[in-house]
Amino acid sequence: MRTAVCSGSFDPVTYGHIDIFERASKMFDKIIVGVFHNIRKEPFFTVDERIRLITESTKHIDNLSVASFSGILPDFMHEVGASVIVRGLRSVTDFEYEMQEAQMIKHISPDIETIFILTSQDYYFLSSSGVRELATFRGDVAGLVPPCVEKAINEKMGIVR
Ligand code: ADP
Repeated sequence: MRTAVCSGSFDPVTYGHIDIFERASKMFDKIIVGVFHNIRKEPFFTVDERIRLITESTKHIDNLSVASFSGILPDFMHEVGASVIVRGLRSVTDFEYEMQEAQMIKHISPDIETIFILTSQDYYFLSSSGVRELATFRGDVAGLVPPCVEKAINEKMGIVR
């Protein structure tokens, strides 16, 4: 069985991420969304909230499950029996960062491959940080994130629309 991990912070999950999950789910038997719990960073949504929101927005993807990790990614990969990391690529800036990460992982664990799926043109501008910033200024995040995420953001910010 070919298992891949889509890793990231997903704070919050956006339609850009969901597009990558959907496309990856057709290439592998099983997809695990690995939510990184960065203990050094104050998140917008807690890990449990992020897991709930991803689970709710990916109900239509049968071979996908969600889990969190707080250590290094290769340890998580071995724990869940996955050998491929799937990451999304939007820009040259993403590429620079992703190349360093992938090579570091290769150095730590030569058995793990990282592959990249190019963003679709509808979502190349979309990032979790952009959504968080928009939310902070009480902007409308509809169309950028799934409805359950939009609802959770509005609740957190006390926005009534
Ligand atoms: P991190 O917090 O680890 O930088 P994110 O949680 O923002 O990562 O994203 C996880 C993965 O999804 C990364 O590979 C990132 O490049 C990718 N990604 C984020 N937004 C998009 C998008 N709009 N289109 C395609 N890939 C994306």
